[in-house]
Amino acid sequence: MKPIFIAFTLLFAIQISAQQKAWPNELITTPVKSNYQKTSTYAEVMSYIEALQRRSDLLHLEYMATSKEGKKIPVVVIANPRVTSPEEAKKSGKPVMYIQGNIHSGEVEGKEIVQQLMRDILLGDKKHLLDNQILIFAPIYNTDSNDKMKQGRRPSQEDSPVEVGIRANSQGLDLNRDGIKMEAFETNGLIQNVLNKWNPEMLVDLHTTNGTWHGYGITYAPSYHYAGEKAPYDFTWDVLLPEVTEKIDKNYKVKIGPYGYYSTRQGWPPTSIYTYNHHPRYIVNQMGLRNKVGILSEAFAHDRLYERMNGTYGFVAEILEFTHKNGEEMAAINAKAEKDAIDNVLNNAGKVKKGVRFKMVALEKKIANYRTYDYIPYTNKEGKKSYIRSGKIIDVPNVANLSKFDATISTTLPRGYYLPKSMKPIVDHLRKQGIKVTELKKRKKVTGAVFMIDELKNATRKFEGHNMATVTGKYVSKTSTFKKGDFWVDMAQPLTNLAFYTLEPQSDDGLVSWNFFDAYLKEQGVNTKPVEYPVFKSYPTK
Ligand SMILES: [Zn+2]
Repeated sequence: MKPIFIAFTLLFAIQISAQQKAWPNELITTPVKSNYQKTSTYAEVMSYIEALQRRSDLLHLEYMATSKEGKKIPVVVIANPRVTSPEEAKKSGKPVMYIQGNIHSGEVEGKEIVQQLMRDILLGDKKHLLDNQILIFAPIYNTDSNDKMKQGRRPSQEDSPVEVGIRANSQGLDLNRDGIKMEAFETNGLIQNVLNKWNPEMLVDLHTTNGTWHGYGITYAPSYHYAGEKAPYDFTWDVLLPEVTEKIDKNYKVKIGPYGYYSTRQGWPPTSIYTYNHHPRYIVNQMGLRNKVGILSEAFAHDRLYERMNGTYGFVAEILEFTHKNGEEMAAINAKAEKDAIDNVLNNAGKVKKGVRFKMVALEKKIANYRTYDYIPYTNKEGKKSYIRSGKIIDVPNVANLSKFDATISTTLPRGYYLPKSMKPIVDHLRKQGIKVTELKKRKKVTGAVFMIDELKNATRKFEGHNMATVTGKYVSKTSTFKKGDFWVDMAQPLTNLAFYTLEPQSDDGLVSWNFFDAYLKEQGVNTKPVEYPVFKSYPTK
């Protein structure tokens, strides 16, 4: 080779390696630029997305909603070739995967790594992740509260970064409790303009834990949806998460494990950990009721921000490597789950029962080795046994994992539900969730059952602004006539499991729970006499 040619080749090689390592300033995230002291503002996330947009034609930017304070919530669709509509996505035959950061504004690493990951996929070493899938990223779901930064907001994160935003949205709502009642602008955007519109096969929701000193960089949970189809859950729990656990350890040096809490009040070492609830108000759980995969990611709060970002980046990157290889299979499993749910209605309505209230129990399989910081027993001033945390991480063998949910109340699966015209607000809500409801074109006599409510009870303490309701009573057989203009929810539809959980009166996270029927029931005199629940459950005619 001629010397000049060698020099040119060398220069070219140097340039390439420099490109891989040194990104232009506008493609470096705020934490990296600030030595992990700061997290991105909404404006910084938007200019980062715009900087990517100037450099890549594979990116399509849209907005799921406008927040209360007028911020447009970005949804970044990345595909090769670029797609700009769900129709184009469908035509490509590639499954859609959705990753969401910053649902709780103080939990910032998801927001940061989503920006980095989009960059690395579009312009860096992860371009292959677009070969077989379409990726949708929402880096900053909770926009308003992100920018209300202050020191000391999340004590367990020990000011890393120094200042963070507020957990609730600017309406004062926890966005991860809003999946059924849909009161937040953000939830309406997510459900209607991401889930219903783009129909992703998987949702990954990025959080930071609130405190337990387990020994994992990330803890995870699949979608707990015990009224739904089991196959997407099984695939997540038995196939996806074990493979990702191995890969993230190898490629990112991060140990990950199942999400859960323990308390030293039960003694030491722990014999069990318990998870959070199965309710579909949590968006990850709702994915299961929608026959899809949901994954919760919780970075270890006590780690420094750069470690939490490394862990969360590794977790999402390895999940997307997995879906790059197995996305088609995942989509097929989800499609079969949807078909199974519909077939169950067509073949078994009026015959089988499904759970509507659940209690948490242990999985059959214990955790072989549970990683946690060790605690040392001592006797306190009152002479009682107490525990102090040490700096050592230990493996505790055979720890029970309370992350299964057994039904405490089950009720018969209907062929459909009828609602009178006056229940239009309920129907509007079902439609926002994506549930199909039709209007009757003519009078119809139907057989089935109604739920007679003996008692309506409201919780004395408010939760998310609600005195949540429970009803007691029983189903009684009935024949009713519905008129033209009344409503019919045909349960042979894709979101049948969600419709069941939402509409059943005894459900522990349905519309009754969130006070949608309180005013009507009180007007009908539920405080003094039994009242009929105004949603008629129909069974197939023999
Ligand atoms: Zn959170």
